[in-house]
Amino acid sequence: LCSADLQISCSALEVYKEMVLLYIEEARSFVNSQCAGLEPWQIIATTLLSTLGAVWLKGFLFQPESLTSRVKKQFFKIIRKIPFIGATIQNQLNKALDDMSVSLCTLKEGMSYTKLLPVQGLTHKQLLDKIREYETLSESPAVDWAKGKVSGAVYWGDEKLTDLLVKVYGEFAWSNPLHPDLFPGVRKMEAEVVRMACALFNGGPDSCGTVTSGGTESILMACKAYRDMAHERGIKHPEIIAPVSVHAAFDKAAHYFGMKLIHIPLDKKTMKVDVKAMRRAISRNTAMLVCSAPQFPHGIIDPIVEVAKLAVKYNIPFHVDACLGGFLIVFMEKAGFKLDPFDFRVKGVTSISADTHKYGYAPKGSSVVLYSDKKFRHYQYFVAPDWQGGIYASPSMAGSRPGGIIAACWATMMHMGEKGYVEATKKVIETARKIKAGIRQIDGVFVFGDPEVSVVALGSDVFDIFRLSNALTSKSWNLNTLQFPSSIHICVTMLHTQPGVAEQFISDVKREVAIIMKNPKEKTTGMGAIYGMAQSIPDRSMVTEVSQGFLDCLYSTEVPKMQSKNHKNHKNHLNGNSKAH
Ligand SMILES: *Cc1c(COP(=O)(O)O)cnc(C)c1O
Repeated sequence: LCSADLQISCSALEVYKEMVLLYIEEARSFVNSQCAGLEPWQIIATTLLSTLGAVWLKGFLFQPESLTSRVKKQFFKIIRKIPFIGATIQNQLNKALDDMSVSLCTLKEGMSYTKLLPVQGLTHKQLLDKIREYETLSESPAVDWAKGKVSGAVYWGDEKLTDLLVKVYGEFAWSNPLHPDLFPGVRKMEAEVVRMACALFNGGPDSCGTVTSGGTESILMACKAYRDMAHERGIKHPEIIAPVSVHAAFDKAAHYFGMKLIHIPLDKKTMKVDVKAMRRAISRNTAMLVCSAPQFPHGIIDPIVEVAKLAVKYNIPFHVDACLGGFLIVFMEKAGFKLDPFDFRVKGVTSISADTHKYGYAPKGSSVVLYSDKKFRHYQYFVAPDWQGGIYASPSMAGSRPGGIIAACWATMMHMGEKGYVEATKKVIETARKIKAGIRQIDGVFVFGDPEVSVVALGSDVFDIFRLSNALTSKSWNLNTLQFPSSIHICVTMLHTQPGVAEQFISDVKREVAIIMKNPKEKTTGMGAIYGMAQSIPDRSMVTEVSQGFLDCLYSTEVPKMQSKNHKNHKNHLNGNSKAH
């Protein structure tokens, strides 16, 4: 039977071979007949041109930015060039920019900008008097963060801690870890901050990391490391695969380092990344996978264990962004709240970012990026061996770095201790759970997914949630506004754990929702309408343009010409906006 089988397949192969030969022969005579009348130079020129054409087409089709996105951009660019329409759009944009500069960059009566260096420097007393003037700018109508009215932003700001940190900063104000020979104390502190953080995330003996200036830099550094690893493996266009909910710092990293960010959709119910879609996005070009623990918009922890399995299976580095909640989740078990594993205990997790300047309660300007193994950290480093100024080796983006900030970060961690962090975590999580449960009782709004950490995001199927955002702003709450889908969130900090704050928040939401529900389809006004509109503009370059105007405005030292009467009302909203983005 066996040999009979073999014989049949052998003769089938013969037939197949003959057919192929026949086709080749036919193709040959076809090409020859087509070229019969041509001179050799014509054949050479045609070959050359079609090769160049193919190379150009490949370059045109396959770029880091997708073809559809480029076509869309070009389309809107052309529209903006159409005489009447273009001018109308530009006028509207200019109006929006003018309104913004009036509402955002206002001074009080009699104030002016300093534009030249004072010829004679100010005395101590003069300077301190001058400082008061700047402090009055943040008095009413600005929102009072110390009373727990603001989402995120200031994570504690405890006065006693501030006093301590100011002293520590003073001791190290002139230090710079770029010169470890001059400042050995700061070198030791930085190494210890990294080691303590590694231990918190259950890193092994080979775990390591660096201190950076903030979450964004931590993320940039991990992406840079994995890009260089990808380049070494021969990947020309490295890709980051991350949930659509991941922090915009990954967009920034992709932009800075010439990588492509592939956004993976979320499960609509849980708001966790769709792991199957993530697996499908993996290709030869994949440089890294990303999950958040938790993500910023809805405070949800992605399925890290499942994604880690993909990372191991396909041998791809895997970054867990715990910038926001890193210094909560590592203490949650001890505080009595169970979580799925998220740290280096999960095989496949190769790096973690965690912000000491968020729930680490250190002053702004510090974060850590951690690796499971030293081999990854080497790809983060930068060395210029041939510089005329000497061999230059630097661990992260900055050259000189503020030793005082590192010292203050170290001091905060040492002062808090495990007990201090566990207690603080208990308070923050209890408050967030209270708010989550309270909001779920309210008819007309819902909580996105099942947030386990400190962020609670609200949406509505009945009315435009930005109306609630407007209403709460008038009650002097300052929340974050989110888009795609429209939602608002509160990021619970130590300031919200003060007595009565959570209860006040819940009852304010309840009352305002009840008022809105009387007329659920009413049109949204004010800033809420602007958030809604900003989402619906198909030409995203216009949103970019207005945002650039916003940034310009921050550097303005001109008093706006027209001072509208109701600009005070706008002010809070715009501050909220800048915080959210
Ligand atoms: C805050 C945050 C970051 C970025 O941190 P910065 O300190 O603002 O640069 C990154 N990821 C998440 C989830 C964050 O919440």
